[in-house]
Amino acid sequence: MAMDLPARESMDFDVVVVGAGPAGLATAIRLRQLAAERGADLSVVVVEKGSEVGAHILSGAVIDPIGLDRLLPDWRGDQDRPLATQVTRDEFLYLGPKRGLRLPNVFMPRLMSNHGNFIGSLGNVARYMGRRAEALGVEIYPGFAAAEVLVDEAGRVVGVATGDMGVGRSGEPRADFTRGMELRARYTVFAEGARGSLTREVVDRFALNRGRDHQKYGLGVKELWQVRPDRHRPGLVQHSMGWPLPNHAGGGSWLYHFDENLVSVGFVVHLNYENPTLSPFEEFQRVKTHPMVRDVFEGGKRIGYGARAIMEGGWQSVPRLSFPGGCLVGDSAGFVNVPRIKGSHNAVLSGMLAAEHLFEALQAGRAHDEVASYEEAWRSTEIGYDLKRVRNVKPLWSRYGTLAGVALGGADMWMTELLGWSPFGTMRHGKPDHECLKPLSAVTPITYPRPDGVLTFDKLSSVFLSNTNHEEDQPVHLRVRDPELQKRSEHDVYAGPSQRYCPAGVYEWVEGEGGVRYQINAQNCVHCKTCDIKDPNQNIDWVPPQGGEGPVYLNM
Ligand SMILES: Cc1cc2nc3c(=O)[nH]c(=O)nc-3n(C[C@H](O)[C@H](O)[C@H](O)COP(=O)(O)OP(=O)(O)OC[C@H]3O[C@@H](n4cnc5c(N)ncnc54)[C@H](O)[C@@H]3O)c2cc1C
Ligand code: SF4
Repeated sequence: MAMDLPARESMDFDVVVVGAGPAGLATAIRLRQLAAERGADLSVVVVEKGSEVGAHILSGAVIDPIGLDRLLPDWRGDQDRPLATQVTRDEFLYLGPKRGLRLPNVFMPRLMSNHGNFIGSLGNVARYMGRRAEALGVEIYPGFAAAEVLVDEAGRVVGVATGDMGVGRSGEPRADFTRGMELRARYTVFAEGARGSLTREVVDRFALNRGRDHQKYGLGVKELWQVRPDRHRPGLVQHSMGWPLPNHAGGGSWLYHFDENLVSVGFVVHLNYENPTLSPFEEFQRVKTHPMVRDVFEGGKRIGYGARAIMEGGWQSVPRLSFPGGCLVGDSAGFVNVPRIKGSHNAVLSGMLAAEHLFEALQAGRAHDEVASYEEAWRSTEIGYDLKRVRNVKPLWSRYGTLAGVALGGADMWMTELLGWSPFGTMRHGKPDHECLKPLSAVTPITYPRPDGVLTFDKLSSVFLSNTNHEEDQPVHLRVRDPELQKRSEHDVYAGPSQRYCPAGVYEWVEGEGGVRYQINAQNCVHCKTCDIKDPNQNIDWVPPQGGEGPVYLNM
């Protein structure tokens, strides 16, 4: 079809930002603030694949306000402020199948304390930042997915193109076909969050991860509940580890009480798990039934559902951040502090840092070159400090399992906090997540209880609560490169793990007359990116569907 397409229209900007999350919006806001302070004229545009800012953002979220305080110092006094509940209490639980243990807070390194943090919806924080950005003159285009990186003859990034709209399932233009747009820029900032599709492309093109460790990921599955007032403890932050996961699989639950009788509950599974019959979704459903947890939900109503990958590689996995024509910020750069399960503060701080370096380059009349000063700076900032001191927690957990690994990780955090030094140096992560699965023949299959429809649910009724929508007549945005390999390996050797790791029930192996067939229910995809990460052969590519589709998360 490429041959008869009309040429794309193009628009020129100083900076194009891909992704209206906290990182992208902080970049845009800081650029416009600097322009206003220095009397410069600077055009900044942000493209967002969700139907509105915040529609695709899913997070816990306990938010360290350090980033917001610095970017928008007046936000706490704003009528429109997105965060109202301050943390009042931290609880850490270790769960066994029937009982559990509350760990005394005195054992917790100080950096794990949530004192001074806020509980809320990161999607709503992004919506608020979007309004503030527009008030500063940033142009935001929600409903437009950046689908292609534009590169000039010299190999420099010169912008992005948004995807074509109105393309039929077989790739033919439909009657409502609209060509994508070229957004050209002196600098392009990738702020796509975890496992961005264009970020992957630039990381590969410029070998940004050369000499760095593999990136690691987890999958977070979340529900939002409206609970009975007598079950609501505003400001309570509760984390658990242990049951229902086996000792050699990492992860745990969170439960955050906030606003008017809202409880955010979720479960993260580290994606280096080995058993292909493990289902992160079902593990999450099970944890809600634990006696130390279940009371909260009695008489309550589940009102939201979603899932999203989280970055877990940390300090040693951060790729080079700058390249000719652009840079990476936020989760695209991997700035999540894993033991704190927090990345939104670093998303904002990294957006600001990138903006400051880009602004100086723009002021000097530069364009399309590498702003290497940003890469050179980050390790000496709060972001570097935040990530460096916890750099061994994840590798220790992966290597020694939950019991010993978490204890060692805790001791390591104490050491780095008190002595500024780790006995482990900087540990490596081992294999990338997609290489960790064992064949079905080497594991004991896990069976899960059926959902009761009150406390535990199935995937389809869950996806319904994510308001996910994709037009069916469009090319499937989950591209299986080699269908034969998928059958031979994913199905025959690993027993179809995509049926279990996908939290939206997108993948099914269906028995039919001609044998087994791989069915992809792409319309249910909640854009968590797990298939792109965990497929054992890296045989599935997630590419953006038409802009404006996917989940519409509210208060998530
Ligand atoms: C389950 C879970 C729990 C978490 N809990 C916490 C917590 O409690 N506290 C905390 O601080 N952090 C938490 N985090 C981490 C935090 O959510 C991230 O660090 C933060 O969202 C990163 O911000 P970002 O702007 O880099 O990316 P995101 O918030 O992911 O935003 C990226 C945006 O880019 C858009 N986008 C992506 N690709 C394209 C494209 N090609 N074209 C156009 N738009 C695109 C997306 O739709 C999205 O809106 C959690 C993460 C997860 C997954
Ligand atoms: S298809 Fe892939 S990206 Fe979509 S919900 Fe399933 S695992 Fe996540």
